[in-house]
Amino acid sequence: MIFLTKYIIITGGVVSSIGKGITSASIGRILRSYGLKVGAIKIDPYLNRDSGTLNPYQHGEVFVTYDGMECDLDLGHYERFLDVELPGVSNITTGKVYQSVIDKERKGEFLGACVQIIPHITDEIKSMVRKTSGIEDYDVVLIELGGTVGDIESQPFLEALRQLRNEEGHDNVMFVHVTFIPYLNAAGEFKTKPTQHSTKELRSTGINPDMIVCRSQEPIDEDFKRKIAHFCDVAPNAVVNAPDAPSIYEIPLTLANEDVGKFVADRINLDVDNESADLDQWKTTVKSLQKQDPVVTIAIIGKYIELEDSYISIRESLLHAAAEVGVKLDLKYISSDIDELNQNELKSLDGILIPGGFGERGVEGKLDAVEYAIVNELPIFGICLGMHSMVIQYARRNNMEDANSTEFNKDTNFPVIDLMEEQKKIKDMGGTMRLGSYDCKLIVDTKAYNSYNSKSVPNDEKQIEERHRHRYEFNNEFKDKLQEAGLVISGVSPDDFLVEIVELPDHPWFLGCQFHPEFKSRPNKAHPLFVSFMDAAAKYSKNNK
Ligand code: GLN
Repeated sequence: MIFLTKYIIITGGVVSSIGKGITSASIGRILRSYGLKVGAIKIDPYLNRDSGTLNPYQHGEVFVTYDGMECDLDLGHYERFLDVELPGVSNITTGKVYQSVIDKERKGEFLGACVQIIPHITDEIKSMVRKTSGIEDYDVVLIELGGTVGDIESQPFLEALRQLRNEEGHDNVMFVHVTFIPYLNAAGEFKTKPTQHSTKELRSTGINPDMIVCRSQEPIDEDFKRKIAHFCDVAPNAVVNAPDAPSIYEIPLTLANEDVGKFVADRINLDVDNESADLDQWKTTVKSLQKQDPVVTIAIIGKYIELEDSYISIRESLLHAAAEVGVKLDLKYISSDIDELNQNELKSLDGILIPGGFGERGVEGKLDAVEYAIVNELPIFGICLGMHSMVIQYARRNNMEDANSTEFNKDTNFPVIDLMEEQKKIKDMGGTMRLGSYDCKLIVDTKAYNSYNSKSVPNDEKQIEERHRHRYEFNNEFKDKLQEAGLVISGVSPDDFLVEIVELPDHPWFLGCQFHPEFKSRPNKAHPLFVSFMDAAAKYSKNNK
């Protein structure tokens, strides 16, 4: 029997950054509440093959999938909202599409044909969509098209998706257009015109939206919805309002209140009973995220702080952990790219998180933060470059004065962080890192082991699996020296070769990991390392107030 997957295609209009990803993920969450198997695809119409070489200031964090693809951050929303692990092929880019078509052309696979956007690029897009959807027997696959309708670069994708609807059948594919409704203070009213225009733009590609999600600062009323329905040629119950919410995790509940589940199920003939939708567990999660006290203040000390999206998975992981521990997170972003960290600002903290990063800029600030946390016994969590900073600073205070990573100083006498031999030969930047999931053995009776095997995680897990994205590693030449100085290695690769976690036993919470735990945290399943860190920060807060 051929498994029939239904598709929900999400486009955006009027302005970018209106939360298409969250809207799609929220629709997905509602469909999951019916017990359906839901997958997700993000299309990014840029020419980069993947997000790996993109500066975080461009599109925010680079999200890494278990199979090692460097993806758009929206995949993180999908994983968190749907509680799934998506394969890297779930992120389709113009770069991937063109590369694949050109590779085929070079191999002569087009048999002498003139290779064109239609049909070759559009066929490739549809084939990628179908291949990704076919990885599992999904009942529904969400396809989010990045950018805004009308962008030149999204044209081939819109055309391919229009064709997909014809080929799969109108009962199996629906389009959701997410738009922004501005409020004009001078006129004292919301305006429909930008939505009318962007819907018109979408229709000029041959696509009629089936549903319009109106993003607005405040809720819009029924009359306003009717006006949009009238001008944009959709049913009145197909106009849905998603006003700004205090937490992104509330959006599935907002959309459920607007009967989105029923509308979608009817529109693409999903075999579900509306009564069976069960968002109770999600409601409990949202409630736990609303705790107002006690407040625990954590700072992310990094160099990409001007754009909060650069650390989005870390922020979400901290929020999940705060909910699990029963505290309210007060999150600060402190630049590590300054001459001196502000001591008063550091004094107000209950914990420091040093995130990953690339390049020398801002590293000295991170080292200062590590020193501060050691001296003041302040909980500190280092991730990837954060762990490198911890190892470097610990070495420096233990008679290895100019200790460094060879990423920043090739001539250091103490290259405590260095490239692996096989990495040294690589010249290209894209996809040359240790990427994706790797196993890690935990050493019993360490903070790391105890975090993964705590009251809330009552098992005896000695081997974990976490995602990586880095070139440099802990240099084993300095293992003995650092261990003698008191550093404990609490996680290693299964062959004992690579150091994955380091910690200090006589410190309330000083732990650095080579991997990125933030990619595996879920609102309903906070990551054990984040929970343990938050717990230590909460204790620090209690003892110091
Ligand atoms: N720049 C470091 C490396 O390449 C750390 C990378 C990271 O923090 N993700 O190893």
